[in-house]
Amino acid sequence: MDSKLKELMNTVVENDYCIGCGVCAALNGSPLKMSLKEEGRYKPYLADNYQQDEMDVNPLTACPFSNSSKNETEIGKKEFGDINNTHFNEYTGFYLKNYAGYVKEGDFRKQGSSGGMGNWISAQLLENNLVDGIIHVKSSNENSLLFEYQISYNIDDLSSGAKSKYYPIEMSKVIQLVKQNEGRYALIGIPCFIKSIRLLAEQDEIVSERIKYFIGLVCGHLKSDMFAKSIGWELGVEPKDLNSIDFRKKLMDKSANQYGVEVTGNKEGKESTYSSPTKELYTTNWGHGLFKYKACEFCDDVLAETADVTVGDAWLPEYSNDSMGTNVITVRNPEIQKIIEKNIDKIHMEEISAEKVYQSQAGGFRHRREGLAYRLYLKDINKEWRPQKRVEASNKLSTKRKRIYEKRMLLSQESFKAYKAAEKEMDFKVFMNYMDPYIKEYNNMVAPSLATRVTRKFKREINKLFKN
Ligand SMILES: Cc1cc2nc3c(=O)[nH]c(=O)nc-3n(C[C@H](O)[C@H](O)[C@H](O)COP(=O)(O)OP(=O)(O)OC[C@H]3O[C@@H](n4cnc5c(N)ncnc54)[C@H](O)[C@@H]3O)c2cc1C
Repeated sequence: MDSKLKELMNTVVENDYCIGCGVCAALNGSPLKMSLKEEGRYKPYLADNYQQDEMDVNPLTACPFSNSSKNETEIGKKEFGDINNTHFNEYTGFYLKNYAGYVKEGDFRKQGSSGGMGNWISAQLLENNLVDGIIHVKSSNENSLLFEYQISYNIDDLSSGAKSKYYPIEMSKVIQLVKQNEGRYALIGIPCFIKSIRLLAEQDEIVSERIKYFIGLVCGHLKSDMFAKSIGWELGVEPKDLNSIDFRKKLMDKSANQYGVEVTGNKEGKESTYSSPTKELYTTNWGHGLFKYKACEFCDDVLAETADVTVGDAWLPEYSNDSMGTNVITVRNPEIQKIIEKNIDKIHMEEISAEKVYQSQAGGFRHRREGLAYRLYLKDINKEWRPQKRVEASNKLSTKRKRIYEKRMLLSQESFKAYKAAEKEMDFKVFMNYMDPYIKEYNNMVAPSLATRVTRKFKREINKLFKN
């Protein structure tokens, strides 16, 4: 095997820091293939009778979690550092402007997870003939998969792939498609996926020429397929019978962050649909981080800093009340900025500060900066291999915060074991019984103290008094 590929397998893959993006398997001459492993996450594996060739692209420098690849700030600086009026913020990366907003025209907002800006920007690129296709995640044509990366060449196809897919995906097949089919493309992806294609593009001329724009999604973490299956299972659809899932069903009488899920599956010989607010389900509290990839615990990019534009949810009190959803948007490429300005009558945009963007994702940033520093520290004292990050290893945080980060890691690790145990007994209750003590302990730990609750109640009462 190519020596660099061997090193990649022995470090990133062996130690479970692989996010399964599939770039290493898409390189010319790569003997790797991607497969969805038992725990419902993609991993590369050595194909049978593989060739012992040297590869023309160094897989170590194209992997987002290796120690030989550039970090997000270095990539961002190269892409956006010299642009007029560009700013830098340690949380958003380089940016021209930040907004909170949504789409007014068509059904983009209705069909989208938040304000519909992700697909609207993609549609603008198609309509203005800036690209021929959008590489994004849509329902899969394969029986065993719910979603996969595909290419949409028109607005109808694009619309059918709206909304967030909290589901394992990989890009090796779609990168091959791009290499085989001349054209100009835009790629939508979570931060580490965009980073990996930026890294690949530095060494692969075809990819560099053809993928013209990158649309990033703000990211908390990626989920194993057990997340979708567990939601269906809790709603009464056995994992093998789950046909589709909508992770972001807007609930019109609720605030935007209290969205629901909807699953369709076969039950008692016929296809039925079930839905529920996520708040009432066992596995959907993102703070618990159930079924999270381990790699996500070692990522410091929340805002897809290497993307031309990033869209996420404006999780801010002033926007969350609107059940239709509002995006937070960070623009880095002047061409995207121009598209927004030219079409300002079709969208609702309020310019916001980088500080506001931070606030909209404050929990995610704390976990991926302060929490990451502590996780790196734990790896270092145990002398274990771990990827190099922009965050320095540190244990300089309160004992309470340390325990919270330790418990979060445990919750995510145990969720995989609990799911396996439930699968064996063919009973979702086994999963809940297994996880209950871990979840209760964690919830008690993060619950606000009596003093905090009393102060909050006091503030609420004072506010009420002044309002009246
Ligand atoms: C794994 C994951 C974690 C996320 N975590 C956060 C978070 O912590 N905070 C936050 O504010 N936002 C997060 N988001 C982003 C958020 O869920 C919305 O996707 C985003 O706000 C865009 O909404 P929209 O209405 O503009 O999207 P739409 O207009 O619906 O467009 C979304 C586009 O993204 C594509 N897409 C969906 N899922 C994927 C995927 N997995 N990979 C590549 N393309 C995809 C769709 O095919 C579609 O083209 C996350 C998204 C994902 C996929």
